[in-house]
Amino acid sequence: QAKQTGRNCFRFFTSSLQEHANTLMEMEQDLRLALDQNQLEVFYQPLVRTLSGKITGVEALLRWRHPTRGMIPPDQFIPLAEDTGLIGPIGLWILETTCRQVKAWRDQGHQLYLSVNISGRQRDLGLDAESLQQILHNTELPADQLVLEITEGMLLDDSDETIVWLRAFKDLGVHLAIDDFGTGYSSLSYLKRFPIDTLKIDREFIRDLTLDNEDALLVEAIISMAHSLKLRLIAEGVETAEQRCILYQLGCGYLQGFHFARPMPAIELQDWLVSYSPQRLQLG
Ligand code: C2E
Ligand code: MG
Ligand code: MG
Ligand code: MG
Repeated sequence: QAKQTGRNCFRFFTSSLQEHANTLMEMEQDLRLALDQNQLEVFYQPLVRTLSGKITGVEALLRWRHPTRGMIPPDQFIPLAEDTGLIGPIGLWILETTCRQVKAWRDQGHQLYLSVNISGRQRDLGLDAESLQQILHNTELPADQLVLEITEGMLLDDSDETIVWLRAFKDLGVHLAIDDFGTGYSSLSYLKRFPIDTLKIDREFIRDLTLDNEDALLVEAIISMAHSLKLRLIAEGVETAEQRCILYQLGCGYLQGFHFARPMPAIELQDWLVSYSPQRLQLG
């Protein structure tokens, strides 16, 4: 009886693995077409000044409008894009599209900078100082209005080559941010070695900020370290007014999260920017 069940389980297991593999292969074929068929779309989420509530920038967040599977979030296809190398052309397209969009918003009078996530794989797939310079030239976005978001993991893989790669962006005048800060590696020495301007504190530390004193202590430590290194700080995943208040008291200058706005298609963000009126933080 037991043996029987075991075999059934095994069969079930292999067939679901098989299914998974098929889905991945289909997704890969679909992703190869996605860019040419205009299925990729960039959403934008506002970055907000903690005290004044003013919008200072937007983060570009990729979406895939799949013809049959619906809207696919980036966590479900960026890894595939990295494995297949498709992140090369996709990444350049994102930069060109978003620089052009933010330049247009700036021309309409919105003082915004642009923050774009990049993947370490892009280093060998066409993203370098020359191609970025070309994109900035084509789109007329000032270099100092662009931030590239990188993850901690990227700074640990062959760090010498990575330093040279990132340094070249800095030389153009572009800024660099570390995304999801605090989730990656415990070694902080890279903060001194890499030309970083901004830390984005991961949502994980913000979520229970008002409930969990340990999280508050951790965030406080991150903030005081960032201040002593003269780094700008953005807290991710701010969903409540209480979190905003604590983050202000802890000294975090910038916020991002559903409390202010969700990521939106460009056309929606445009209307949102026009109707938004900043709410100054009320200090109790
Ligand atoms: P990320 O760069 O850390 O982006 C922030 C994520 O947090 C976004 O998820 C955003 O929708 C979500 N978020 C923002 N505010 C809140 C909040 O208040 N509460 C909660 N629960 N979530 C919030 P999204 O758009 O699904 O993106 C996930 C990740 O995919 C990004 O994390 C980034 O690592 C990656 N990604 C997105 N776009 C790109 C891209 O163009 N290129 C690359 N290489 N990676 C990208
Ligand atoms: Mg990011
Ligand atoms: Mg993040
Ligand atoms: Mg993330």
